[in-house]
Amino acid sequence: DMVRIRRALLSVSDKSGLVEFARGLVDAGVELVSTGGTRLALEKEGLAVRDVSELTDFPEIMDGRVKTLHPGVHGGLLAIRDDAEHQQAMQSHGIAEIDLAAINLYPFEETVARGADAATTVENIDIGGPAMIRASAKNHAYVTAVTDPDDYGRVLEALKTNDGCIPLALRKELAALAFARTAAYDAAVSGWFAGELDLESPRHRAFGGRLHAVMRYGENPHQQAAFYTNGNNRPGVAGAQLLQGKQLSYNNINDTDAAFELVSEFDPAAGAACAIIKHANPCGVAVGESLVEAYGRALACDQTSAFGGILAFNQVLDGETASEIVKIFTEVIIAPDASEEAREILSAKKNLRLMITGGLADPRQPGIMVKSVSGGLLVQSRDNGSRTADDFKIVTKRAPDARELDDMAFAFRVAKHVKSNAIVYALNGATVGIGAGQMSRVDSARIAARKAVDAAEVLGLDTPLTKGSVVASDAFFPFADGLLSAIEAGATAVIQPGGSMRDQDVIDAADEAGVAMVFTGMRHFRH
Ligand code: 5GP
Repeated sequence: DMVRIRRALLSVSDKSGLVEFARGLVDAGVELVSTGGTRLALEKEGLAVRDVSELTDFPEIMDGRVKTLHPGVHGGLLAIRDDAEHQQAMQSHGIAEIDLAAINLYPFEETVARGADAATTVENIDIGGPAMIRASAKNHAYVTAVTDPDDYGRVLEALKTNDGCIPLALRKELAALAFARTAAYDAAVSGWFAGELDLESPRHRAFGGRLHAVMRYGENPHQQAAFYTNGNNRPGVAGAQLLQGKQLSYNNINDTDAAFELVSEFDPAAGAACAIIKHANPCGVAVGESLVEAYGRALACDQTSAFGGILAFNQVLDGETASEIVKIFTEVIIAPDASEEAREILSAKKNLRLMITGGLADPRQPGIMVKSVSGGLLVQSRDNGSRTADDFKIVTKRAPDARELDDMAFAFRVAKHVKSNAIVYALNGATVGIGAGQMSRVDSARIAARKAVDAAEVLGLDTPLTKGSVVASDAFFPFADGLLSAIEAGATAVIQPGGSMRDQDVIDAADEAGVAMVFTGMRHFRH
């Protein structure tokens, strides 16, 4: 199971930890071979290194596009050590065995993240590096592939404790890491191409990612979890800066993402918006003249649930709003930015996490969504669809008035971000009752109305705010019952996709109650 390390090939773009690692290898009696830049870095520190061109008898050409793509390197990495024919081939072609390859790749993801032009980005697609990583990982029976400077220490440790050898278990584990790295790298490359072309089809995008953070646990404490990023540098939870508070948990990230995606639906130029999320569902969303107003109105929808919630804002968080926020327990705030005053006020709450994104997500941006199912992955393009008043088809005798139209557009936009079956009551640009995740639409309608009754009690109001509200449904009403329940709660106008076999029954019920209804022709299931 043990393989003695005699020769190592080092070829790294990220040179952190390199010199120490190389020194450790030399101390273990290992001969070093390197590509140009890596060799210079090592020689500068007084280490003896052979140039890879000695193995290939070929110079680096084409600005480094071709430096290690040669049988002199790949034969040395791929040869089966105890196969007579392989040995024969090595001898007759003068190929030297390479027992360890420490390689990290051209910084493609970082190049995309800093917004480099296309030519620079393409030049940063590493070709020889992934080939060597894959070759050494494939041949892990004999070769040790090291692709992350974080692993240098334990490789040196293993060499020490095993008298210059690396055990199979470690080689195999490092091989798994190596292929994870090349897969993530190629996923990033594929994602960049798809992004360049604005391609929406999942066929053109790989759905890999690079390990970004390991969390203490997953959805529950007995589950392991990690956060993988796919290299896009758009504003969002992955690239956000954590200004205070401890690392986000798995559930925090999931909820914060939902909050930010939802609030990003509201153009900051058109007004302030706030979304409060619990368990990936909004428990209050509102627009307003100011953030503090939007926050107050979002909170009023369901103060009970908002406790310990996640807040998202579409504008720079100001001091006035911050002083309101600190009055109750909040887990995470995400916003494009926060004023000095807001930061100062929030810093008093040590456990509160404040995340700054530098902008909003683009709800129209193409992208892909991945969900795992037993035996595979379900992949679909992102729900970047939207409907405005221009797309609404009035189906009832009574047409909605201007206020109802505004609230319908608002409620339908929110409903897109509520787990199905979703029912959203809204009044004057604020949700006043949200029913989420029920197996029947009529139940969602009833729950939302009942929550509005509870909220009225908390607010000390006689009538729930659903009186005179509009109601949005993420998918069509299959029967009139859901609609009737909404009318009973006081809704005067309804927005829904339409398209049910029983649409006419539902329209008739609306007409009978003098309720206005529009069809959007677009469904927003979310599970
Ligand atoms: P160095 O700084 O040593 O000159 O280059 C190290 C980088 O070159 C590493 O990131 C490695 O993955 C990459 N590399 C090694 N061989 C080749 C090759 O043949 N072609 C390309 N494009 N990159 C290579």
